[in-house]
Amino acid sequence: MAFTHTIDGKGETSEKAFDVINPATAQPFAKCPDASRAQLDAAVAAARKAFGPWSRKSFAERRALIAEFAHALAKRIDGIGPVLTQEQGKPLGQAKWEIGGAVHELEAMCNMELGTQLIRNDGKHRVELVYHPLGVVGAITPWNFPIILAAHKIAHGLYAGNTMVLKPSPYTPLATLLMGEAGRDTLPPGVLNIVAGGNDLGGWMTEHPGIDRISFTGSVATGKRVMASASGTLKRVTLELGGNDPAIVLEDANADQIVPSLFRGAFLNAGQICMAVKRVYAPEKLYEPLVAGLTKLALSHRVGNGMEPDVEMGPVQNKMQFDKVMNLIEDTKRHKSVRITAGGHSLNQPGYFIAPTVVADADDGMRLVREEQFGPVLPVLKYKDVDDAVRRANDTRFGLCASVWTEDYERGAEIARRVEAGTVWVNHHVGSEADMPFGGFKESGLGRELGTMGLASYMEPQVVKIPLRSGS
Ligand code: NAP
Repeated sequence: MAFTHTIDGKGETSEKAFDVINPATAQPFAKCPDASRAQLDAAVAAARKAFGPWSRKSFAERRALIAEFAHALAKRIDGIGPVLTQEQGKPLGQAKWEIGGAVHELEAMCNMELGTQLIRNDGKHRVELVYHPLGVVGAITPWNFPIILAAHKIAHGLYAGNTMVLKPSPYTPLATLLMGEAGRDTLPPGVLNIVAGGNDLGGWMTEHPGIDRISFTGSVATGKRVMASASGTLKRVTLELGGNDPAIVLEDANADQIVPSLFRGAFLNAGQICMAVKRVYAPEKLYEPLVAGLTKLALSHRVGNGMEPDVEMGPVQNKMQFDKVMNLIEDTKRHKSVRITAGGHSLNQPGYFIAPTVVADADDGMRLVREEQFGPVLPVLKYKDVDDAVRRANDTRFGLCASVWTEDYERGAEIARRVEAGTVWVNHHVGSEADMPFGGFKESGLGRELGTMGLASYMEPQVVKIPLRSGS
């Protein structure tokens, strides 16, 4: 299969190419074209040229074309799914589910509008707030959910009237390049450009004078570099960054009922989700039942190559992340007080496989608790009273998401409001919805995507003050 960039509505290859590694085998399985600086410039120029006509279309016209793009993507699910599994590692069913989710989000996110809003009409003046598209958006995505995260940026970026140059992670570029083919068939040339490349490409984009806004999803450390680089041209920036999500279980929760949801929230996609459960705070009374339930599921979870049937969890996506997670496990083992009740080791086979790991009697000072593990390792911490649990949950520089687990939903909501995080669920963890603004407190990000707040972030607000003739 040949993979090409999408530039100005056409497929293009590059002089250079790099290997894409299958994390289930640790071997290269395909080549990806490596965009040159000139190709990025061409993509930006195409996006600038397309901006005028695209921005003058109505929301309804853009919605219809984005829906055609979504339908073209839906027709490709069976073709793109195996590529996503081979480059990312997730089981094939989950890869197809991710692409299906992207199709759904592309349509659902374009079901809202930002029309002219009346700020005031006091008889002397009418004051209106109108929103304008910004220009060319540079979108940068990570390797854990390349398709759905690209869809979020494409949906509101284009629907708002902007054009786009999108860059996937070099670890998982291929499925996103195939997504570009759906765009070539349905969107006017230059509206959606997708270019893949090595480590220089992201930096070129954040400093590029032809790009007006950066929509970035990735790690906290890179997000800070992106913001610094974008300041040179005062680009608008949203940063969707890492998390260290706490799940606080209250005394009245039903341990048996919540264990499967907690487990899924922590181990889906091998724990490589920004908003995964990364720390569980359990009351003394429920502590052992919760540890036992999570351990049982971890020990029976089927780990393997995502192309094989019945596999529930694939490998960690790349060697660097595998080494980071194994290093956290080794550091955890040095704490003599902890119990590793499941996993705690890699699998003895090629590929970056780590057994689902549950760490009981974890304490607040451990690196596994303080850092974002972004892998299949879950620490469970004990608490005496709920105020203490909330304080410890908030004692972090992260603030992406969190959850509270209880039979008393209103009490759960009260505690949820005390947690410093962009989204807090009661009796649930993981998931984004088109109408729910998503983003982080503290170092988990800047700004929001999704919802009308997300749509507005792709636009520039303008106040228009109009004098009224007396009597009108
Ligand atoms: P990453 O290393 O920060 O990379 C993310 C993207 O940024 C990649 O495309 C990367 O490409 C690019 N990049 C790296 N350095 C750059 C620079 N100086 N300028 C511009 N772009 C640059 O993150 P990752 O390891 O791929 O993803 C995992 C992280 O993403 C986790 O922390 C996770 O929590 C977070 N995440 C957050 C959300 C959210 O919505 N909040 C969602 C998913 C993931 P190159 O490698 O080529 O540089």
